[in-house]
Amino acid sequence: MENLFGKTLQELTEMLVAWGMPKFRGKQLADWMYKKSITDFNAMQNLPKDMREKLAASCVIDRASRVDQLDSVDGKTSKFLLNFADGVGVETVLMRQPYGNSICVSSQAGCNMGCAFCASTLHGMVRNLTAGEMLAQTYYINDLLSQTGEKVDTIVIMGSGEPLTNYDNVLKYIRLLHEDYGLGMSYRSITLSTSGIVPNIYRLAAEEIPVNLSISLHAPEDALRSELMPINRKYPLSEVVKAGRDYGDTTHRRVTYEYILIDGVNDNMKQAKELVGLLKGQLASVNLIPINPVAERGWNRPSPARINAFEQYLDQHHITVTVRREMGNDIQAACGQLRNRHLTGEG
Ligand code: SF4
Repeated sequence: MENLFGKTLQELTEMLVAWGMPKFRGKQLADWMYKKSITDFNAMQNLPKDMREKLAASCVIDRASRVDQLDSVDGKTSKFLLNFADGVGVETVLMRQPYGNSICVSSQAGCNMGCAFCASTLHGMVRNLTAGEMLAQTYYINDLLSQTGEKVDTIVIMGSGEPLTNYDNVLKYIRLLHEDYGLGMSYRSITLSTSGIVPNIYRLAAEEIPVNLSISLHAPEDALRSELMPINRKYPLSEVVKAGRDYGDTTHRRVTYEYILIDGVNDNMKQAKELVGLLKGQLASVNLIPINPVAERGWNRPSPARINAFEQYLDQHHITVTVRREMGNDIQAACGQLRNRHLTGEG
């Protein structure tokens, strides 16, 4: 059975034309799948009966099913463990922000980038997700929100996985989100987060799709960054920041640098100064993320005074800076933790 979810209008049309059907049926099918969120061919009333039967006999519209869900006490954050047809599961998070409903989508099941602070990488990577599987995460939550007249407003591709090592599927997903036969989302409401896969940052800049780019930096010098993020040995800081600068210059979108603040590791004033030096003159902002304590590594969140001092230093040196609002701490919002609980049988 062929899964149609994640196919573009062109792909659907080509398939139906090869079956001897008129071209316009492709648009009708796409509208049912993506606009009306219908997965049962029989419910697609404007398609002829023989077409519906043929579709049902050889195709499916497979999305994702919910295995588990955790809701934060304040009701603002919900984390879902969603499974695909082959039993592979990923986490998707809904965050009700003041500016709308934001979701965090996974691009791979697990991850093999080995970032030292990340639970998603502990069991390695199972596989890349298809465009349809990323779209299925989006539709799962959009359907849920539509029950109360809401919708997904912004998307961050920041769940498990390194999206720029699953480039073609991620790009197809982003384009599908934007299509007018789909959710019709603006590129500006989509953010892609990368650990710094330099060649593909340049490639993305050249695509002429102005999505927001977020780059995980986490340290202002190579030795420490390599310790926290092994990918730095391949693409060192200077190259990552240069690619970020090019992305901003080409797309005119501000690049956000993510910086997890770890007490006594990367939060002193010398490091704040190095960070300023690195990003000077770039259309960029820094998002400081005080870490959730990691007992096994002895990592703790800096005191509010230290967080404040780091933030102030950047601000005084003309770097736009924000400190991430804490959301969903009580449901282990750090990516990968819910999935790991199920993988290790603790679920
Ligand atoms: S932080 Fe992102 S890139 Fe790094 S291991 Fe986790 S999921 Fe992978």
